[in-house]
Amino acid sequence: MNYCNIKNSDIANGIGVRVSIFVAGCTHHCPGCFNPETWDFNAGKSFDDAVMAQILKRIALPYCNGLTLLGGEPFEIPNQRGLLPLIRKVRDDFPDKTIWAYSGFIYDRDLIPGGRAYCEVTDEILDALAVLVDGPFVESLKDVSLKFRGSSNQRLIEMPSTRKSGRIALCDEAVFSN
Ligand code: SF4
Repeated sequence: MNYCNIKNSDIANGIGVRVSIFVAGCTHHCPGCFNPETWDFNAGKSFDDAVMAQILKRIALPYCNGLTLLGGEPFEIPNQRGLLPLIRKVRDDFPDKTIWAYSGFIYDRDLIPGGRAYCEVTDEILDALAVLVDGPFVESLKDVSLKFRGSSNQRLIEMPSTRKSGRIALCDEAVFSN
């Protein structure tokens, strides 16, 4: 797996101060995409153990609230497999911190068994997430007043209760403005 960028103190993609990794590769090609240079799976640099160690060191800092996965498309199947070791480390070593992910796939269509982005590691990744922001960016639905998402079709899914109940639970966005 390749990655295009890592932000060590990101406040735009999830609650608090977070480490964000923008992985390479996306087949959605949404018109108006904010990051088309990340569509190529060979863009950027190789994600290796040294990069992972740097990310984990940053996440360990007391002010850091956790990790955010973006792209590109973190849920392209090769990227799911590439991200799994990092997700496992954050989940196991920092249980008080959270993992957010952004995906152009639709959770209850593409990321379930039989879905086009479902593979042997998808459930483990989804179970590790606090929030999944799902759905493609739709330029006609762009709304700059929205927090943590670009267009109004995208959903902020609260994952622990969604996974437990089997029904989609959305985040209470009022909490974000406090
Ligand atoms: S899913 Fe994200 S990275 Fe991929 S084309 Fe759409 S906006 Fe761009």
